[in-house]
Amino acid sequence: MKGKISIDTERCKGCEFCVVVCPKGVIGIKEEFNSSGYYYAYPEKPDDCTGCAFCADACPDVAIEVWKEDSSEAL
Ligand code: SF4
Ligand code: SF4
Repeated sequence: MKGKISIDTERCKGCEFCVVVCPKGVIGIKEEFNSSGYYYAYPEKPDDCTGCAFCADACPDVAIEVWKEDSSEAL
């Protein structure tokens, strides 16, 4: 199953919970600040995403949306 994520970089506080929890190592942290002064998460290897949604469940700032490839509906 393929998946896709979208990260709201302005909500992100750079806690890296999503980076740690992703079993596929999809998410990285940009060495750039968002407008609040945090390094932010981004999909570094988007092709490896399975759509498991572990990252979205782990994010304390509700910054991540996940889609399955065969559905346009966010999980
Ligand atoms: S949905 Fe799963 S595989 Fe995709 S980025 Fe999130 S934790 Fe990683
Ligand atoms: S878990 Fe959420 S707040 Fe933390 S780095 Fe990932 S997207 Fe940003």
